[in-house]
Amino acid sequence: MIYTGLGVGLSVAVGPVRRMAHTVHEPDAGPSALSREVELERAKRALDAVAAELEHRAQRAGGPAAEVLSAQVLMVRDPDVWDEIEASISEGLSSERAAFLAFRGMAELLKSLGGTQAERAADLEDIGWRTVANLTGVPYGVIPVADEPFVLVADDLSPADTAVLDLDQVVALVTSGGSPTAHTAILARARGLTAVVSAPGVLDIPDDTVVVVDAAAGTVDSEPTSARIAEAKAAQIAVEDDSPASPGRLSDGTAIPLLANIGSVSDAREATAKGAEGVGLLRTEFLFLDAAEAPSVETQAAEYTEIVAALEGRKVTARTLDAGADKPLAFLDLGHEDNPALGVRGIRTGRKDEKLLKDQLEALARTQAADVGELWVMAPMISDAAEAEWFVSLAREAGLKTVGVMIEVPSCAVVAEQVYEVVDFVSIGTNDLTQYTMAADRQNGAVAAYQDAWHPAVLRLIGMVGKAATASKKPLSVCGEAASDPVLALVLVGLGVTSLSMTPKALRDVRATLARFSSDEVRELAAAALAASTAEGAREAVRAALPRPLR
Ligand code: PEP
Ligand code: MG
Repeated sequence: MIYTGLGVGLSVAVGPVRRMAHTVHEPDAGPSALSREVELERAKRALDAVAAELEHRAQRAGGPAAEVLSAQVLMVRDPDVWDEIEASISEGLSSERAAFLAFRGMAELLKSLGGTQAERAADLEDIGWRTVANLTGVPYGVIPVADEPFVLVADDLSPADTAVLDLDQVVALVTSGGSPTAHTAILARARGLTAVVSAPGVLDIPDDTVVVVDAAAGTVDSEPTSARIAEAKAAQIAVEDDSPASPGRLSDGTAIPLLANIGSVSDAREATAKGAEGVGLLRTEFLFLDAAEAPSVETQAAEYTEIVAALEGRKVTARTLDAGADKPLAFLDLGHEDNPALGVRGIRTGRKDEKLLKDQLEALARTQAADVGELWVMAPMISDAAEAEWFVSLAREAGLKTVGVMIEVPSCAVVAEQVYEVVDFVSIGTNDLTQYTMAADRQNGAVAAYQDAWHPAVLRLIGMVGKAATASKKPLSVCGEAASDPVLALVLVGLGVTSLSMTPKALRDVRATLARFSSDEVRELAAAALAASTAEGAREAVRAALPRPLR
């Protein structure tokens, strides 16, 4: 039997099914035998435990997963949820029933709003089940274990579980619920996991049935012929084998270098193993997250040089410290800010503490002088051409050769033409560009639905930068999460982006997708996306224009 759903990525996987058991049930609606005070205390303790567990998983997972899980923590701590729970307990209900009703109520509300809001409902339902499981002492969402790698089949998998899945055990993920834009799918993509979501009926497939999961076709075959199994295994191996070799290209031969986002030497090694043609974003602040004092020029130079050397001659684009707001650094005291995302962060910390910036530029210049590879340097959160010019002149004074800026603030995108007059290259940070265009804090789960780089307003800004890049004949990269979505990557290239930088695990699918379209075709896809009025509309318009296997 063939089950049809929506594929995430393009890969194929084969293995025996293991279904995820849900042992937690809807709590009894009858009155509680315990006092109000005891129930309130139980509820509070359970919510604290759920929040702590999600925080722990966020730390373990890092990257985009950490953001999704931190957003879930905020949902757990939402005062409106607590008010609901308190009211139900005051009416005599048990804390598990009260928590169940509160989270389900919030989820229903989001579902009624439709679109991407509705997709976040699953995150809330997940928290509800976690809380009930904690209160009733039963396991929740226990990932099965097996002696051999398996295909995990679930109703829906929570972001918390997807983020920490053991990829040596789980070769593919299949869910009957969910959608390609739900957090689970986003995390599956970030982790390079073969996945088919929203495939009704898959929970009926018995454990141990060998299935072929084809993400490009969006299918799960529960009765594959031996020839199909052999073909799928060969495709799996071919994908693993060919990834380091081929550079990013469109079908007409236009080169689109595919680069990696990294934050450490070990990331650098993974990037080269996965075929990255260089590094489009080295988040230097990640190297010093634990430092109590500002790292010396020598320490910094040693770190940067090791990373550039690990890339064996491929380009490394180092970003100067992007501290503040979501990325606090212990050695940089920014004091209290009511709106840190709109406060002193990114390059603004360098304006406040110029010595810190100058030391970093000096360290980067030493790495450049060590001549172990190609080094480009850029600054985050630049607001306009004057600020870009100030940064470029400091970097040039330090002796740096190739200097650019990140465009992640809408004002800078609007004046991209002026910016290109003073820089060697630009890289767009779509995570922040989306946050600031949509006025939606990227750490606040309550406004997560706005955080969608597919929104035509975000795409139009990228298009403005694309036009300026084409006119100036200088490079334009995207290093936000948007670059790791293979279909959105097509749109970005259609808007004038000349290279893409992403989590190394996403390189394979983006490379395979780009190779199927010409320059003219990606421009048409971009035009379809720009003409839409919502993120969902843009996604739909582009999907409708794609050939069948990619839909
Ligand atoms: C971005 O904002 O898209 C980006 C790449 O920078 P960061 O996620 O580190 O803020
Ligand atoms: Mg950013």
